[in-house]
Amino acid sequence: MSGPAGQTPATGPEGATAALLAKRNELEDQLATMSAPQRDVGGISFGKRVGEGTSMAVDRISSVAAHERLQDMLTDVRRALVKVGDGTYGRCDDCSEPIPPERLEALPWAVRCLRHAGAARR
Ligand SMILES: [Zn+2]
Repeated sequence: MSGPAGQTPATGPEGATAALLAKRNELEDQLATMSAPQRDVGGISFGKRVGEGTSMAVDRISSVAAHERLQDMLTDVRRALVKVGDGTYGRCDDCSEPIPPERLEALPWAVRCLRHAGAARR
């Protein structure tokens, strides 16, 4: 996966907040769609938003893994927003060391340095 190119890099907490809020809304929306009971398995008879058909089909195949991944990401996004509020945004939750700017640029909701991000995952 490649990140969106051509965007103004949001390096400071202020710039990151907008990106974090947008991401949180997006994730909550996706999770709400995914965790909705799928009663009509076998046919897309429910009225989903136009243009979502392709990703819906893919989602169904790996919906459990994808749901877990989104949930993890949402947790990080929410945590990052709290960190913006208490002034610790951009610092690792585990060691309090600054998270590299290039990591925050690629992943504005990063709440741990590379070392601890890896260790925290299952
Ligand atoms: Zn760390």
